[in-house]
Amino acid sequence: MRRLLSITVAAVLAVGMSGCGQAAKESAEPKKEPAAKETTAEATKELNVYSSRHYDVDKKLYDKFTEETGVKVNVVEGKGPELVERLVREKDAPEADLFVTVGAESISQLNDEGVLGEYSSETIEKNIPEQYRGDGWMGMSSRARVVAYVKDQVDPSAITSYEDLTKPEWKGQILVRPSESSYNQALVASFVDTMGKDKAKEWAQGVTDNMAREPKGNDRDQAKAIVAGEGKLAIMNSYYWVKLKNSSDPEEQKVAEKIDLIFPKDTHVNLSYAGVIKGGKNSVNAVKFMEFLTSSDIQTIIAEDNGEFPLNPETTVPEPQKSWLGFTPQKIDYATLGKHIPEATEIFTEVGWK
Ligand code: FE
Repeated sequence: MRRLLSITVAAVLAVGMSGCGQAAKESAEPKKEPAAKETTAEATKELNVYSSRHYDVDKKLYDKFTEETGVKVNVVEGKGPELVERLVREKDAPEADLFVTVGAESISQLNDEGVLGEYSSETIEKNIPEQYRGDGWMGMSSRARVVAYVKDQVDPSAITSYEDLTKPEWKGQILVRPSESSYNQALVASFVDTMGKDKAKEWAQGVTDNMAREPKGNDRDQAKAIVAGEGKLAIMNSYYWVKLKNSSDPEEQKVAEKIDLIFPKDTHVNLSYAGVIKGGKNSVNAVKFMEFLTSSDIQTIIAEDNGEFPLNPETTVPEPQKSWLGFTPQKIDYATLGKHIPEATEIFTEVGWK
């Protein structure tokens, strides 16, 4: 009977999934006490994931995990902020066991709201360096926000720091997406953290003054724009170079061939991370899946398919990421990065970065 019941729950969740972010609230299972700790000790065969990572590689990872462990993974996909909001709303009776997302800036909110649960795992401690994990969460991969330029048009030695982008010589040459992008918000939030709000504002002002056009489009569009001659420098995440290179569209492949990347001093590196949900019914499987993500085999798959950087230092880094190594990443506390998002938002408004 118990087994039957859990299959029903799985079916309900699967329906919720296809509804694209619709709440899978109608559970056949009778309501339990909110902190149903005792159930986490049982070996359940399910894992409920909320994810804002919409990448093909993730599907591959879930399937591989199910193959290896027999644990069925139910995934609800949605936008990061919407899922965070939902996790907070559901925190007294969580539907999810694990949250997977891009951008460490949501960690502080989830921890302030008491959404993330504690976990302990020797495997994770061994595989993931300390600066990339914390209370209730661990980084699964990283991404650098860098400067793209058209080869033969820019001498890359002219840009060694983010500050160089604010120099008058780049007036009308910088392409970057709108400030509503979480990538830009995290970038400026990280500058507030490392150099203070005034300096971060100065930087944002300098970049805004040098923009080639009003910000529009996504990271890939900025790369395409510099190749089309709309400007000389584009701010984008490094893995988009890999995505352009591996694109099925020959035009995108050409863009990758024409551009190269500069990793400025103290490169802004953000994380994709996984967080365990406090009171989740299948916390044991959540941690098991996190451990699975940290193995060097899986880290290699993530790096190869998605162009991100692995976090397990034992992983053989594939090309082109290997050729990019040697840069110095900025030193930030990922658990508190999100505290600076409100200041970053203020800065964008103050400097007129649309
Ligand atoms: Fe992206």
